[in-house]
Amino acid sequence: MATLQLFNTLTGTVESLTPQGTPELRMYCCGPTVYDYGHIGNFRTFLHVDVLRRVLLQLGVPVRHVMNITDVDDKIIRNATAAQIPIGQYTAKYEQAFFEDLNALGIQLPEVIARATECIPEMVELIQKLAAKDIAYQVEDGSWYFRLNRDPEYGKLSKKDLEHIEDGARVDVDEYEKDAARDFALWKAAKPQETSWQTAIGEGRPGWHIECSAMAAKFLGDTFDLHAGGEDLMFPHHENEIAQSECASGKTFARHWMHVRFLLVEGRKMSKSEGNFYTLRDLLLKGQRASAIRFLLLSVPYRNQMNFTLDGLVESTNAVDRLRTFRQRLQSQAWPAGSNAELAVTIQQAAEKYTSALAHDLNTAEARAAIFDMVRAANTAADHGLLQADNAAAALRVLASFDAVFNILEDRDAELTKAALAWAEAEGRMAEVAPEVLEKFGANSLSDAAIEALVAERTQAKKTRNFARADAIRNELLAKGILLEDSKDGVRWKRK
Ligand code: AMP
Ligand code: ZN
Repeated sequence: MATLQLFNTLTGTVESLTPQGTPELRMYCCGPTVYDYGHIGNFRTFLHVDVLRRVLLQLGVPVRHVMNITDVDDKIIRNATAAQIPIGQYTAKYEQAFFEDLNALGIQLPEVIARATECIPEMVELIQKLAAKDIAYQVEDGSWYFRLNRDPEYGKLSKKDLEHIEDGARVDVDEYEKDAARDFALWKAAKPQETSWQTAIGEGRPGWHIECSAMAAKFLGDTFDLHAGGEDLMFPHHENEIAQSECASGKTFARHWMHVRFLLVEGRKMSKSEGNFYTLRDLLLKGQRASAIRFLLLSVPYRNQMNFTLDGLVESTNAVDRLRTFRQRLQSQAWPAGSNAELAVTIQQAAEKYTSALAHDLNTAEARAAIFDMVRAANTAADHGLLQADNAAAALRVLASFDAVFNILEDRDAELTKAALAWAEAEGRMAEVAPEVLEKFGANSLSDAAIEALVAERTQAKKTRNFARADAIRNELLAKGILLEDSKDGVRWKRK
């Protein structure tokens, strides 16, 4: 059986990834900060990690996969304070949404999910270990920092030239710092009205980096096989994790590092102000299918930058349909007994190309191409009456093995879109739903609240003289059997 060859950021080479010391491969992947809904860039990373674990499982390697949930940080505290609710209540909503999104995208759950707020004692212990070596030091306000110049290996992951490390210069922000090489916060002293924990190192809350070091050690041990995340985390987050963990334990932290390159949208960095920022939910409400989103985000290998476009999504939708139709065709016809030898070879070659593409640094693009080669050949043979029962069985086996990784053949799309609609309704976001989605899925499910939201939107549209939108809403509702009557006292509606 082949072993997975995977690029290792630490060594800069493609190496075998195999479990060391335990039967299962121990891996840690940085999870989300649950202060908002995840965007498709986040999910590109989680999807490629999903491919990694599925390929390992397919190669017969069991995995123990740990993912953290960052449920305390500056943004969370800021937003929860603004909403006047405890941080746990604030993050619970986004954590649940994150798991719903993972499910919608067909991403397997890790074996262990660890919340930062539930591992504070382990973080404190780690800081104490560093303090005992004089690598962690406390400053006047009670915060703790990591003394960077005590780690001669600092920078080995990102290979940054960090000669200009300023002794004692400090940084205490949670926000990503692109080029700062300074002593970083391990523990932030409590501020009035902010969530904090009373601990042996004082009252406060953890810095972001210490969270992953402590949780990785708690669930995987000091040394483990693989650490993964998006490329933006390489520096300083992962560099700091290595520094904390290796200085404390004196052992190698993660042997292998995997980084997923960034997702661009329509050729640009995703940003709300550019209007190219998408959550999964945004796309579902616009009528895009979850399966097509998954397939598109996996179409470019993880080490290449990917440009997500709405055109690409159209192609991806067609590609998913093509594969589903092909499987249906193979399953639903009675093929003549026997095997077409030439086609059998083609199918076999496609299967080998598929397996070796994934085993060689998770080349999802080549793996996918191999499957489409098979589909083309088998369809052509079938059109000419040259596909036989053994070929159909062999092609179905290859498809099943493809789907154990790509996971798009089962059609859950309508169900997932309906779930997104129910969410939009509950959140008062029906105005974001595309008319064709309402038409297709909303007919019986339009609740009174949803209708009222649309009626209110229409009234607003009329006020701003956007008559086109107002008429569109009237027509949409009519198509669903809802009649509007404009009267002096406002708008009345009734179901036909
Ligand atoms: P966050 O919740 O911001 O900590 O991000 C969760 C994961 O998504 C991390 O592994 C990030 O590196 C990754 N990520 C964030 N933005 C993108 C992007 N545009 N493309 C790919 N991965 C991303
Ligand atoms: Zn992390």
